[in-house]
Amino acid sequence: MSCYNEFVRVPIVAANWKMHQTLAQAQNFVERFRPLVRGVKSTEIVLAPPFTALAATQEALRGSQIRLAAQNMHYAEQGAYTGEISPPMLCELGCEYVILGHSERRAQFGEGDALINRKLQSAYAHELISILCVGENLDQREAGETEQILARQLDTDLEGLSAEQIGRLVIAYEPIWAIGTGRTASPQDAQAGARFIRGQIAARYGGRAAQALRVQYGGSVKPGNAAVLLAQPDIDGALVGGASLDPQEFAQIVRATAT
Ligand code: PEP
Repeated sequence: MSCYNEFVRVPIVAANWKMHQTLAQAQNFVERFRPLVRGVKSTEIVLAPPFTALAATQEALRGSQIRLAAQNMHYAEQGAYTGEISPPMLCELGCEYVILGHSERRAQFGEGDALINRKLQSAYAHELISILCVGENLDQREAGETEQILARQLDTDLEGLSAEQIGRLVIAYEPIWAIGTGRTASPQDAQAGARFIRGQIAARYGGRAAQALRVQYGGSVKPGNAAVLLAQPDIDGALVGGASLDPQEFAQIVRATAT
Protein backbone atom coordinates (compact mmCIF):
# COMPACT_ATOMS: atom_id res chain seq x y z
CA MET A 1 0.00 0.00 0.00
CA SER A 2 1.37 3.40 -0.91
CA CYS A 3 0.60 6.62 0.91
CA TYR A 4 0.61 8.48 -2.40
CA ASN A 5 -1.69 6.39 -4.56
CA GLU A 6 -4.85 8.40 -4.06
CA PHE A 7 -3.47 10.84 -6.66
CA VAL A 8 -4.32 9.79 -10.20
CA ARG A 9 -1.19 9.52 -12.29
CA VAL A 10 -1.41 8.73 -16.00
CA PRO A 11 0.52 5.51 -16.63
CA ILE A 12 3.39 5.76 -19.09
CA VAL A 13 4.83 2.85 -21.05
CA ALA A 14 7.95 3.57 -23.09
CA ALA A 15 9.82 1.51 -25.68
CA ASN A 16 13.59 1.80 -25.57
CA TRP A 17 14.71 0.39 -28.90
CA LYS A 18 18.39 0.94 -28.07
CA MET A 19 20.60 0.39 -31.18
CA HIS A 20 17.89 -1.54 -33.01
CA GLN A 21 15.57 -0.71 -35.92
CA THR A 22 16.65 0.71 -39.26
CA LEU A 23 14.44 3.33 -40.91
CA ALA A 24 12.44 0.69 -42.74
CA GLN A 25 12.08 -1.47 -39.62
CA ALA A 26 10.92 1.52 -37.53
CA GLN A 27 8.30 2.45 -40.14
CA ASN A 28 7.15 -1.15 -40.37
CA PHE A 29 6.89 -1.36 -36.56
CA VAL A 30 4.70 1.76 -36.38
CA GLU A 31 2.48 0.56 -39.19
CA ARG A 32 1.83 -2.71 -37.34
CA PHE A 33 1.71 -1.20 -33.84
CA ARG A 34 -0.71 1.70 -34.36
CA PRO A 35 -3.82 -0.41 -34.97
CA LEU A 36 -3.01 -2.54 -31.92
CA VAL A 37 -3.21 0.44 -29.54
CA ARG A 38 -5.85 2.48 -31.33
CA GLY A 39 -8.28 3.77 -28.72
CA VAL A 40 -5.82 3.47 -25.80
CA LYS A 41 -6.14 6.87 -24.13
CA SER A 42 -5.66 6.09 -20.47
CA THR A 43 -1.95 5.27 -20.88
CA GLU A 44 0.77 7.40 -22.43
CA ILE A 45 2.69 5.43 -25.03
CA VAL A 46 6.21 6.54 -25.94
CA LEU A 47 8.64 5.21 -28.56
CA ALA A 48 12.37 5.90 -28.26
CA PRO A 49 13.99 4.94 -31.57
CA PRO A 50 17.68 5.45 -32.36
CA PHE A 51 18.50 9.00 -33.51
CA THR A 52 18.60 7.96 -37.16
CA ALA A 53 14.99 6.76 -37.08
CA LEU A 54 13.48 9.66 -35.08
CA ALA A 55 12.26 11.68 -38.07
CA ALA A 56 10.80 8.68 -39.89
CA THR A 57 9.13 7.41 -36.73
CA GLN A 58 7.64 10.83 -36.04
CA GLU A 59 6.28 10.96 -39.58
CA ALA A 60 4.79 7.47 -39.24
CA LEU A 61 3.18 8.45 -35.89
CA ARG A 62 1.46 11.53 -37.31
CA GLY A 63 -2.17 11.67 -36.20
CA SER A 64 -1.73 9.08 -33.45
CA GLN A 65 -1.60 9.51 -29.66
CA ILE A 66 1.86 7.90 -29.47
CA ARG A 67 4.71 10.18 -28.31
CA LEU A 68 8.34 10.32 -29.37
CA ALA A 69 11.44 10.12 -27.16
CA ALA A 70 15.18 10.24 -27.68
CA GLN A 71 17.45 7.75 -25.92
CA ASN A 72 20.04 10.34 -24.89
CA MET A 73 21.18 13.90 -25.60
CA HIS A 74 23.97 16.36 -24.91
CA TYR A 75 23.24 19.15 -22.44
CA ALA A 76 24.52 21.96 -24.68
CA GLU A 77 22.43 23.74 -27.31
CA GLN A 78 25.21 23.54 -29.89
CA GLY A 79 28.97 23.44 -30.10
CA ALA A 80 32.06 21.39 -30.83
CA TYR A 81 30.76 18.06 -29.53
CA THR A 82 31.43 15.60 -32.33
CA GLY A 83 28.86 12.86 -32.54
CA GLU A 84 26.45 14.45 -30.08
CA ILE A 85 22.82 15.59 -30.46
CA SER A 86 21.43 18.72 -28.77
CA PRO A 87 18.05 19.33 -27.08
CA PRO A 88 16.84 21.79 -29.77
CA MET A 89 17.66 19.18 -32.44
CA LEU A 90 15.42 16.70 -30.62
CA CYS A 91 12.62 19.22 -30.18
CA GLU A 92 12.79 20.04 -33.88
CA LEU A 93 12.15 16.35 -34.61
CA GLY A 94 9.08 16.29 -32.38
CA CYS A 95 10.57 14.59 -29.33
CA GLU A 96 8.67 15.26 -26.12
CA TYR A 97 10.69 12.89 -23.93
CA VAL A 98 14.32 11.98 -23.45
CA ILE A 99 15.73 8.95 -21.63
CA LEU A 100 18.63 10.02 -19.40
CA GLY A 101 21.05 8.06 -17.25
CA HIS A 102 20.26 4.62 -18.68
CA SER A 103 22.52 2.04 -17.03
CA GLU A 104 24.07 1.20 -20.40
CA ARG A 105 25.15 4.83 -20.78
CA ARG A 106 26.41 4.92 -17.21
CA ALA A 107 28.39 1.65 -17.51
CA GLN A 108 29.54 1.65 -21.12
CA PHE A 109 29.96 5.35 -21.84
CA GLY A 110 31.15 6.57 -18.46
CA GLU A 111 28.17 8.83 -17.73
CA GLY A 112 28.24 9.92 -14.11
CA ASP A 113 25.56 11.50 -11.98
CA ALA A 114 26.96 15.04 -12.35
CA LEU A 115 26.74 14.82 -16.14
CA ILE A 116 23.24 13.32 -15.92
CA ASN A 117 22.22 16.26 -13.72
CA ARG A 118 23.43 18.75 -16.37
CA LYS A 119 21.40 16.88 -18.98
CA LEU A 120 18.29 16.91 -16.77
CA GLN A 121 18.61 20.65 -16.20
CA SER A 122 18.97 21.18 -19.92
CA ALA A 123 15.97 18.95 -20.70
CA TYR A 124 13.82 21.15 -18.42
CA ALA A 125 15.16 24.28 -20.08
CA HIS A 126 13.99 22.89 -23.44
CA GLU A 127 10.69 21.54 -22.16
CA LEU A 128 11.63 17.93 -22.77
CA ILE A 129 10.31 15.49 -20.18
CA SER A 130 13.10 13.31 -18.82
CA ILE A 131 12.79 9.62 -18.14
CA LEU A 132 15.59 9.30 -15.60
CA CYS A 133 16.90 5.76 -15.09
CA VAL A 134 18.25 4.68 -11.72
CA GLY A 135 19.00 1.27 -10.27
CA GLU A 136 21.45 -0.99 -8.51
CA ASN A 137 23.65 -3.76 -9.89
CA LEU A 138 23.63 -7.34 -8.63
CA ASP A 139 26.60 -6.94 -6.28
CA GLN A 140 24.99 -3.89 -4.71
CA ARG A 141 21.66 -5.69 -4.30
CA GLU A 142 23.31 -8.72 -2.74
CA ALA A 143 25.27 -6.47 -0.38
CA GLY A 144 21.98 -4.90 0.76
CA GLU A 145 22.94 -1.52 -0.73
CA THR A 146 19.97 -0.97 -3.06
CA GLU A 147 18.43 1.94 -1.14
CA GLN A 148 21.80 3.57 -0.54
CA ILE A 149 22.59 3.42 -4.27
CA LEU A 150 19.20 4.80 -5.29
CA ALA A 151 19.47 7.61 -2.74
CA ARG A 152 22.95 8.51 -3.94
CA GLN A 153 21.90 8.58 -7.60
CA LEU A 154 18.87 10.75 -6.82
CA ASP A 155 21.01 13.09 -4.71
CA THR A 156 23.20 14.19 -7.58
CA ASP A 157 20.94 13.53 -10.56
CA LEU A 158 18.24 15.84 -9.19
CA GLU A 159 20.42 18.53 -7.66
CA GLY A 160 19.07 22.04 -8.19
CA LEU A 161 15.66 20.97 -9.48
CA SER A 162 12.49 22.45 -8.00
CA ALA A 163 9.57 20.52 -6.54
CA GLU A 164 7.44 21.64 -9.48
CA GLN A 165 10.00 20.27 -11.94
CA ILE A 166 10.23 16.98 -10.06
CA GLY A 167 6.46 16.60 -10.35
CA ARG A 168 6.81 16.52 -14.14
CA LEU A 169 9.62 13.97 -14.11
CA VAL A 170 9.45 10.25 -14.89
CA ILE A 171 11.87 8.03 -12.98
CA ALA A 172 12.48 4.51 -14.25
CA TYR A 173 13.53 2.11 -11.51
CA GLU A 174 15.69 -0.32 -13.42
CA PRO A 175 17.59 -2.90 -11.37
CA ILE A 176 20.60 -3.47 -13.63
CA TRP A 177 20.59 -7.22 -12.99
CA ALA A 178 17.12 -7.41 -14.55
CA ILE A 179 17.90 -5.52 -17.77
CA GLY A 180 18.08 -7.71 -20.85
CA THR A 181 18.67 -10.78 -18.69
CA GLY A 182 15.19 -12.29 -18.62
CA ARG A 183 15.46 -12.06 -14.83
CA THR A 184 12.61 -9.82 -13.71
CA ALA A 185 12.40 -8.29 -10.26
CA SER A 186 9.54 -9.78 -8.28
CA PRO A 187 6.51 -7.49 -8.07
CA GLN A 188 7.35 -7.00 -4.37
CA ASP A 189 10.96 -5.98 -5.11
CA ALA A 190 9.88 -3.72 -7.98
CA GLN A 191 7.27 -2.09 -5.74
CA ALA A 192 9.81 -1.72 -2.90
CA GLY A 193 12.21 0.11 -5.24
CA ALA A 194 9.48 2.35 -6.66
CA ARG A 195 8.12 3.10 -3.19
CA PHE A 196 11.58 3.95 -1.91
CA ILE A 197 12.10 6.37 -4.80
CA ARG A 198 8.75 8.06 -4.17
CA GLY A 199 9.53 8.26 -0.46
CA GLN A 200 12.86 9.94 -1.20
CA ILE A 201 11.11 12.47 -3.40
CA ALA A 202 8.54 13.13 -0.67
CA ALA A 203 11.30 13.68 1.90
CA ARG A 204 13.25 16.02 -0.35
CA TYR A 205 10.57 17.85 -2.34
CA GLY A 206 7.31 17.31 -0.44
CA GLY A 207 4.17 15.24 -0.86
CA ARG A 208 2.79 17.06 -3.90
CA ALA A 209 5.89 16.36 -6.00
CA ALA A 210 5.94 12.75 -4.78
CA GLN A 211 2.30 12.25 -5.69
CA ALA A 212 2.74 13.69 -9.16
CA LEU A 213 6.02 11.90 -9.96
CA ARG A 214 5.59 8.90 -12.25
CA VAL A 215 7.78 5.90 -11.51
CA GLN A 216 8.27 3.20 -14.11
CA TYR A 217 9.69 -0.25 -13.60
CA GLY A 218 12.18 -1.52 -16.19
CA GLY A 219 13.94 -4.87 -16.48
CA SER A 220 12.74 -7.79 -18.62
CA VAL A 221 9.12 -6.63 -18.71
CA LYS A 222 7.16 -9.01 -20.98
CA PRO A 223 3.47 -9.51 -21.80
CA GLY A 224 3.37 -12.33 -19.25
CA ASN A 225 4.61 -10.31 -16.26
CA ALA A 226 3.49 -6.77 -17.15
CA ALA A 227 0.06 -6.80 -15.52
CA VAL A 228 1.25 -7.85 -12.07
CA LEU A 229 4.22 -5.46 -12.11
CA LEU A 230 2.12 -2.56 -13.31
CA ALA A 231 -0.58 -3.24 -10.73
CA GLN A 232 1.81 -2.28 -7.92
CA PRO A 233 0.67 0.95 -6.24
CA ASP A 234 3.88 2.92 -6.79
CA ILE A 235 4.55 1.68 -10.32
CA ASP A 236 3.05 3.93 -12.98
CA GLY A 237 4.26 2.18 -16.10
CA ALA A 238 7.21 0.46 -17.67
CA LEU A 239 10.38 1.15 -19.62
CA VAL A 240 10.70 -1.77 -22.00
CA GLY A 241 13.75 -2.88 -23.96
CA GLY A 242 13.70 -6.28 -25.67
CA ALA A 243 9.94 -6.82 -25.73
CA SER A 244 9.36 -3.39 -27.25
CA LEU A 245 10.87 -4.50 -30.56
CA ASP A 246 7.84 -6.65 -31.31
CA PRO A 247 4.64 -4.68 -31.99
CA GLN A 248 2.39 -7.44 -30.66
CA GLU A 249 4.35 -7.88 -27.43
CA PHE A 250 4.69 -4.17 -26.81
CA ALA A 251 0.98 -3.61 -27.45
CA GLN A 252 0.14 -6.32 -24.93
CA ILE A 253 2.32 -4.59 -22.34
CA VAL A 254 0.63 -1.25 -23.06
CA ARG A 255 -2.77 -2.87 -22.75
CA ALA A 256 -1.77 -4.34 -19.37
CA THR A 257 -1.86 -0.78 -17.99
CA ALA A 258 -4.81 0.54 -19.94
CA THR A 259 -8.18 0.65 -18.26
C1 PEP B 1 15.97 -1.21 -20.72
O1 PEP B 1 16.87 -1.25 -21.52
O2 PEP B 1 15.66 -0.13 -20.21
C2 PEP B 1 15.27 -2.45 -20.39
C3 PEP B 1 14.46 -2.45 -19.37
O3 PEP B 1 15.56 -3.55 -21.18
P1 PEP B 1 14.84 -5.00 -21.11
O4 PEP B 1 13.36 -4.75 -21.11
O5 PEP B 1 15.30 -5.70 -22.35
O6 PEP B 1 15.29 -5.65 -19.85
